Amino acid sequence: MAIRTAADYLEDVKKLKPKVFLNGKRVDDLLSHPVTKSVVETTARVYELTTDQDFKKLLTARSHLTSELISRNNHACRSIEDLENRMEMTLRIAQEIGTCNYRCVACDAISSLSCTTYEMDRELGTSYHGRFNEYLKWAQGEDLALSAAMTDPKGDRAKRPHEQEDPDMYLRVVEKRSDGIVVRGAKLNQSGAIAVNETIVLPGRAMSEKDRDYAVSFAVPNGSPGMTYIAQYTPFTAERILAEDTLELGNPKYGVRETSLVVFDNVFIPWERVFMCGEAEYAGRAVARFAKMHRMTCGGGCKAGFADLIIGGAQTAAEYLGIEKVPHIQEKIVDMVRIRETVYACAIAAAIKGKEEVPGSGFYFPDDMFGNIAKLNVALGFWEIMELAGDIAGGILVTMPSEKELKNPETSEYVKKFLKAKVPAEKRMRITKFLQNWTAGLHGVGTWHGAGSTVTQRIAVGRLVDLEAKKRMAQRLAGLLEK
Ligand SMILES: Cc1cc2nc3c(=O)[nH]c(=O)nc-3n(C[C@H](O)[C@H](O)[C@H](O)COP(=O)(O)OP(=O)(O)OC[C@H]3O[C@@H](n4cnc5c(N)ncnc54)[C@H](O)[C@@H]3O)c2cc1C
Repeated sequence: MAIRTAADYLEDVKKLKPKVFLNGKRVDDLLSHPVTKSVVETTARVYELTTDQDFKKLLTARSHLTSELISRNNHACRSIEDLENRMEMTLRIAQEIGTCNYRCVACDAISSLSCTTYEMDRELGTSYHGRFNEYLKWAQGEDLALSAAMTDPKGDRAKRPHEQEDPDMYLRVVEKRSDGIVVRGAKLNQSGAIAVNETIVLPGRAMSEKDRDYAVSFAVPNGSPGMTYIAQYTPFTAERILAEDTLELGNPKYGVRETSLVVFDNVFIPWERVFMCGEAEYAGRAVARFAKMHRMTCGGGCKAGFADLIIGGAQTAAEYLGIEKVPHIQEKIVDMVRIRETVYACAIAAAIKGKEEVPGSGFYFPDDMFGNIAKLNVALGFWEIMELAGDIAGGILVTMPSEKELKNPETSEYVKKFLKAKVPAEKRMRITKFLQNWTAGLHGVGTWHGAGSTVTQRIAVGRLVDLEAKKRMAQRLAGLLEK
């Protein structure tokens, strides 16, 4: 059953029993809690799209391991065409769900680990690649929902993992046994990890020899003994818990991007699920390859999809207010489009300028410069898009009464009378709530930090740019060089 239906996934979720805490309370049933349910519904929608005639071609691929048709979410990129489809998949899914495709991070981790384990085996004579392939074959065949965990708590950022006062600030191996390893630590900001079948864990940074114990990668089933998920809690969480009808919310069904702090308290991992254990030099390579993919997908395609939704919402609001033909409003819409298309163009360029990494491996990665520029542009440009949409919708975007007032006999007539514009108040309030979710919520900071905070992209761009070549061009034309 290489392609599962949404119903298959939902059946699986009923069997998951992770130890999840949210708002200080244990969540016993992922499907009945309004917040965890939004994560499940989002992932179910991604499964649904995979079997939808309009999306099927983009969201499926041929496994390089079995030649079977599989979900692209569990596929390693093997060509430029794969890179283009991978990026396009993030765009189309983002447009459909307006939140995180919770399988996206693992998809990019699969490409990274496929290549890095290949390289390790070739250079070190280890057997990680065969092991990873066996794992991947199974995950692809079962069409498992996977998440990926890289971000460590990090403690004092000025110190390396082995220098931390508390050694658990980065996830590490605390025991090696004949049958496997025991790991301890945590991973932060884990998108959708509560409702997947498995989580793939990678190191969160480059490691030195002294950080050897922290150079670890493995796959772990959801809710394994020792794992605790502490879910994020934001005003949007409270709002969803309090809502009598999800239609009162900005993204009714799929919600905001839900993450959790995942604690690993002496979790046992059998050797057949371990893909790196102490090879410090390769930790940074796995991270860099993941980042290459993720800056094109999460930083490029996905956020172009989010921008489409904001632009569509802002244009709707303008039409509802009767200002769509006003020159400064049209200019603002065009400015939003400019940012969106620039990000998308960089993501496309990253894909088509991609190349095989580790010659002979058969694994393809996006162009690093274009991927980093896509992410950097969107981190900076998303705030501008938010600002422009906020300008168009007006102050009501942050002052609007509850949509419940529309059903309150004491206030309904007032709200309908004073909040109508060219359209009835109900319509104006709906699109305003939609835009509030995008512009007055979690998306600005989420876009900034997701796929790495901007300093990491600036460092990468500084490393990739050939300033000497540019200097030579300028100096030659200025007559400073003889030839
Ligand atoms: C919505 C969302 C979803 C996410 N999903 C996932 C996921 O599914 N899986 C996953 O693994 N991660 C996920 N992340 C984590 C994301 O990759 C990190 O947030 C990002 O890498 C930044 O790390 P941080 O949050 O720990 O911030 P920090 O790294 O603490 O950054 C805070 C500030 O400190 C600076 N800083 C930190 N260290 C140094 C240093 N050594 N030198 C100089 N400056 C430094 C940073 O540049 C930044 O300005 C997600 C994040 C968000 C916001």
